[in-house]
Amino acid sequence: MHQALLAVSVSLAAAYYCTHRADENCACRKPKPALLHQAADDFNIDLSQSIFIGDSETDMQAGLAAGCQPIAFGACLCESRDSLPWRGSLPVARTAKELFDVAVKCLQDRGQDAVGVGAAQDPR
Ligand SMILES: [Zn+2]
Repeated sequence: MHQALLAVSVSLAAAYYCTHRADENCACRKPKPALLHQAADDFNIDLSQSIFIGDSETDMQAGLAAGCQPIAFGACLCESRDSLPWRGSLPVARTAKELFDVAVKCLQDRGQDAVGVGAAQDPR
């Protein structure tokens, strides 16, 4: 994955994942936020000033539990959001272009300058 991303000039600082089954009730499986807290500790990230992009209900729950601003990404999740308990309350993006715009707006709303998301947005 790192090599594939590097081929399009994207570097990944780290990847965190749970290796447990759902019935093992570990602390790191979403919707629990342990892996987000681990990344925050490892990279000195202020989760209250961060966005968390996901494509599942458990992603949204983990982001909220960690104090991030979750963003729902993906056509399937967007289309089904009316049946989900968080419908209407979280930003959604169907396409990568929409995701970029939504992410920039969310970071700006949190007082961030969107560095790292991209340089196409003029802060003024
Ligand atoms: Zn786990």
